[in-house]
Amino acid sequence: MKSFEPPRRVLMGPGPTEVHQRVLSAQAMPAVGHLDPAFLDLMEEIKQALRTIFRTPDHACVPLPAPGTSGMEAAVMNLVEPGDRVVVCTNGVFGGRLAEMARRAGGEVAVVDDQWGTPVDVEKVTAEIERAPTKVLAFVHAETSTGVRSDAAALCRAASDAGALSIVDCVTSLGGIEVDGAGWGADILYSGSQKCLSAPSGLSPIAISERAAKAIRERKTPPHSWLFDFGLLMSYWDGEGGRSYHHTAPINALYGFHEALVMLIEEGLDNAIARHANMHRALAAGMEAAGLSYLVPAANRLPQLNAIVIPDGIDDARIRNRLLRDWNLEIGGGLGDLKGKVWRIGLMGATASPWHVRFCMAALGQALNAEGFKVDEAAVAAALDEALGKPN
Ligand code: PLP
Repeated sequence: MKSFEPPRRVLMGPGPTEVHQRVLSAQAMPAVGHLDPAFLDLMEEIKQALRTIFRTPDHACVPLPAPGTSGMEAAVMNLVEPGDRVVVCTNGVFGGRLAEMARRAGGEVAVVDDQWGTPVDVEKVTAEIERAPTKVLAFVHAETSTGVRSDAAALCRAASDAGALSIVDCVTSLGGIEVDGAGWGADILYSGSQKCLSAPSGLSPIAISERAAKAIRERKTPPHSWLFDFGLLMSYWDGEGGRSYHHTAPINALYGFHEALVMLIEEGLDNAIARHANMHRALAAGMEAAGLSYLVPAANRLPQLNAIVIPDGIDDARIRNRLLRDWNLEIGGGLGDLKGKVWRIGLMGATASPWHVRFCMAALGQALNAEGFKVDEAAVAAALDEALGKPN
């Protein structure tokens, strides 16, 4: 066995995204104990930064010690008790995962299904919530499998108007588009470290409202998950007058996550969101000049996840292999019904940059030309110059 040396890739898929050297260096610092006073200070700063970026000043915010799926699992396992009615919106892969978890928690699940590539239909959801007493509404704000944004404000309102709690998947949205937990009245929001926050994968920030915390305290049965039991977790992350051991926190991962949050707050959340929007506009201009089109109409598109329709006669895998082999560039393929039909190009966190937009379009243009789909590379370069300004 030898030390592992990863190839140097440009990561422009649906996540993980690239990680800044400052974050990697932070992770390489010496470990301390998980109850060390210095570490407790770092934990407090992370909690405060999460309140800022979820825009939930009064929610309890912590990073869970596992990837985005753990936020989903924690939200569902804490709120759903056997027999509870749960309305779950599915318009892509991740809504389906939420529904399956709610079933496993013993919930009576009603699914509101929308076509992949379209947002969740708020009217259908409202009607389904009103059909019978509903405890929880769960939906995905930014569907990474299709590149679609749903109207989180309207969906959370539909839940709270009916006295239901809301779970909002913000794995792909947080840091890339506006997330306004308190403004929406969202009860639980969760995300992942490896997308627009641009940290390594393996952590899931979560925000829990007092209303949700009360519902958890009043459960008749303990949550089906021990690791993600909110009450137990908070004895480590909050513990008035002294914290106690619950699990050994991923110390060095949290150093890196802290640094990624420092960088985001230095840039300013609004500036980061504007950067994602601007880079998306530039990429879209390049795609149009290349003769490529988007799966999703402009009004519902996510800037950080660009689902591009694969032209007829072009083989998905051959292009992605060329990009990886010749350019060290990773983009994503389609999932489920969209397999072979779309490419998913991420502009997340560090990769929402002019360099990445130009690099991706240059690589894709050459790969497509080599495979017989004619791309006017000069027209693409001109469109990018127009959108981004001429490179120095
Ligand atoms: N929810 C959404 C919308 C996602 O895009 C993902 C991952 O891509 C997840 C949940 C699961 O996150 P993870 O893969 O970090 O467990």
